[in-house]
Amino acid sequence: MLEAIFAKELLKQEMCGERFVQIPEEIRDVYRLWRPTPMYRARGLEKALKTPAKIYYKYEGVSPPGSHKPNTAVAQAYYNMKEGTEKLTTETGAGQWGSSIAFAGSFFDIDVEVYMVRISYDQKPYRRVMMQLYGADVYPSPSDRTNTGKKILADNPDSTGSLGIAISEAVESCMGSDTTKYCLGSVLNHVLMHQTVIGQEAKEQMAMVEDYPDQIIGCVGGGSSFAGLFEPFYYDKINGRAPKDVEFTAVESTACPSMTAGEYMYDHGDSGRIIPLVLMHTLGHDFIPDPIHAGGLRYHGMAPTLSLMANEGTINVKAHNQIDAFEAAALFAKTEGIVPAPEPSHAIKETIDEALRCKETGEEKTLLFLLCGHGHFDMKAYDDFNAGKLKPFALPQDRIDRSVNRVKVMYPGLNK
Ligand SMILES: *Cc1c(COP(=O)(O)O)cnc(C)c1O
Repeated sequence: MLEAIFAKELLKQEMCGERFVQIPEEIRDVYRLWRPTPMYRARGLEKALKTPAKIYYKYEGVSPPGSHKPNTAVAQAYYNMKEGTEKLTTETGAGQWGSSIAFAGSFFDIDVEVYMVRISYDQKPYRRVMMQLYGADVYPSPSDRTNTGKKILADNPDSTGSLGIAISEAVESCMGSDTTKYCLGSVLNHVLMHQTVIGQEAKEQMAMVEDYPDQIIGCVGGGSSFAGLFEPFYYDKINGRAPKDVEFTAVESTACPSMTAGEYMYDHGDSGRIIPLVLMHTLGHDFIPDPIHAGGLRYHGMAPTLSLMANEGTINVKAHNQIDAFEAAALFAKTEGIVPAPEPSHAIKETIDEALRCKETGEEKTLLFLLCGHGHFDMKAYDDFNAGKLKPFALPQDRIDRSVNRVKVMYPGLNK
């Protein structure tokens, strides 16, 4: 059934039992524009914190669209091109995924149609311009182009939208045409696998400086960038090949805390309930987060594989609010020079906290975090932060319980 919306090769990878999948040469050719990405030692930050910990970060902001997302966008556009796809539809939150797939589509001559979450469409017009420059058509979601969008607008004409709604619109828009396919920028197994190029490189870079992380930290929206960094290290760990008992820490936003406060249950990945149920940590598919600036962390669900690992205690989960994240970002910008995207700023906050714990205990831990994107398109958010206009947005549990319970009532047999 999923072949109606996804390329066959990507579905094969989604269900794949192989341990390694080779990266085709045509994909490597595009990757070479910015890969390998640099790994830095954050000496300026270490000094400011007076920590004995060593802090490294892998920087994915050097890709042309400015984040890790082209790692999978290029692969998805390539496999679609091979199968004769003429148009790709997709959703985007902050615009990072949309600009990545627009970029990738332009390389493989595929038209791209993007449904952009309304709040970001209004707050981040420059990402829309970038997508259009790469040749994509961009619509604010909810839109009047789909039944899902029309229904939501009828209920609430001022809806700020959500990733779940935008996903439904993009899926609906691709159905009914053999040469139009849908693609997704996170959550799915094949997306996480494409991102593991980050961790493969990071392992070699760590070896070059004869070090190895004690802890790997990354922010999670749907979980793809974090999984991309830590999973190659995890593979070594479970095979007894890691020189240290490396720990993995996923950091989400307190405004959208699917793993730290949501429920592990069957739910839809989209608000329109077109996509099949998956077992994951979720806040409920109709949950609409408060308008925080980390658009990439506003998704109600989480990659099923990461959800399982969190449930088993294989990875740690933490949540930080956006004020703490922006304060960490400001210190990072002052000491390392790079203005981080709001999403990885949540990981920077956790890394700083850990480095300060090391200062108290005197531990000389090696920390590695993923700086998955730059914040050059997020100056409005930084302007609001500088002006003291941001709110911390911690989500009251009863609001989560209400949307989670709506899903439980909908599928009583599955979710006890
Ligand atoms: C999309 C995005 C995220 C969230 O998605 P993941 O799949 O969790 O990586 C985080 N940071 C940035 C910069 C993004 O573009």
